[in-house]
Amino acid sequence: MTTPPYLFNTYKRQPVTFVRGRGPWLWDDRGHKYLDFFSGLAVCNLGHAHPGVARAVTQQVKTLLHTSNLYYTGPQQDLARELSRRTFGGRVFFCNSGAEANEGAIKLARRFGAMRPGPRGPRHEIIVFDHAFHGRTLGALSATPQKKYQANFGPLVPGFKVALYGDLASVRAALTPKTCAVLVEPIQGEGGVRVASPAFFAGLAALCRKNKLLLMFDEVQTGLGRTGTLYAYQNRALMPAGVVPDVLTSAKGLANGLPIGAILAKKEIADLLQPGDHASTFGGGAVPCRAARAVLAALSPSALARARRVAGRMRREIDSWKTTMPFLLDVRGAGHMLGLELDRPGADFVTRARKNGLLINCTADRVLRLLPPLILSEADARRGLALLKKTLKDFLPHERKRQ
Ligand code: PLP
Repeated sequence: MTTPPYLFNTYKRQPVTFVRGRGPWLWDDRGHKYLDFFSGLAVCNLGHAHPGVARAVTQQVKTLLHTSNLYYTGPQQDLARELSRRTFGGRVFFCNSGAEANEGAIKLARRFGAMRPGPRGPRHEIIVFDHAFHGRTLGALSATPQKKYQANFGPLVPGFKVALYGDLASVRAALTPKTCAVLVEPIQGEGGVRVASPAFFAGLAALCRKNKLLLMFDEVQTGLGRTGTLYAYQNRALMPAGVVPDVLTSAKGLANGLPIGAILAKKEIADLLQPGDHASTFGGGAVPCRAARAVLAALSPSALARARRVAGRMRREIDSWKTTMPFLLDVRGAGHMLGLELDRPGADFVTRARKNGLLINCTADRVLRLLPPLILSEADARRGLALLKKTLKDFLPHERKRQ
């Protein structure tokens, strides 16, 4: 399948056209059925055609689509209240994507650094991490210190200092009197499902407190139950109690497939932006907000607990493969966000898995990434892992020949 003549050639697409989905299943235009362990890149956390989301969207489409942010709407206020209630009680700004949420967070950090100067005047530097991914717009891209994304788009936005993910000493080394914030992913998704220790996050939070820096979590990929709790900062397996970001960005799974992004910030930080300082025409539209409210309703504490149980079983099963699959170097992640690091490029496995009826993804060249929907049943989890195991095992004969 070649690139259609009317589309930019910016995506390396699998040669398949999907026409329909239900739960964790997708159907292509030839009637083939696939188990979706990718969820549209960590977006359809509730699976496809979720009845609660479908109902909320259809009702809202028939009632009111758009008014602009010069007026109030019920869906936007309901969603902001619920997001605030289920996180750290701050305020919310709505936009349309993850990159846009991070752009807003970067502006908020700069405003913070200007309004709360250090001994040497206003502060504007933000510490980011190697292998990070924060989006493709110019500010978010400048915060994404990876050559493959940044090459030939310069000059980039200045003021980002790069530290090593998981290494507190390197954060201290990147600190200057101009630093105003740290922007970090609780688990680096695009960077290869890289996990840092709880001690690192505890240290990072303490360092931010001591130096009056904003601690900003990019939870675009880790949010909405992906790691087992609504947001990853609430996951005690990833970070200790007391590690609470000042600013949190969210998008992807927030409306289960409709475009939406959100910046959550503690009240005193959010209040640094006043009328006219930041805005979005479509941000917080009634339809995506109604959808997102239905998503939060579906991600109840008991639904999250069920998802954690299924995820735990999946993880134990995958961990057990390490002894019989020498090319499987590491298994990482949390909840429904898992990375299987191979000793070789993984693109070929992704193709083989699809041909076997399973959708997965490969990131950072050698890391197979599993992002199944949280509504996955035990039976479908077992089915998916059997397909994945078959795909990996089919490789073993080639492996033996090579030795
Ligand atoms: N931040 C993280 C951690 C992401 O994983 C992504 C997308 O993969 C983004 C930001 C960018 O989000 P979007 O593609 O919605 O702009």
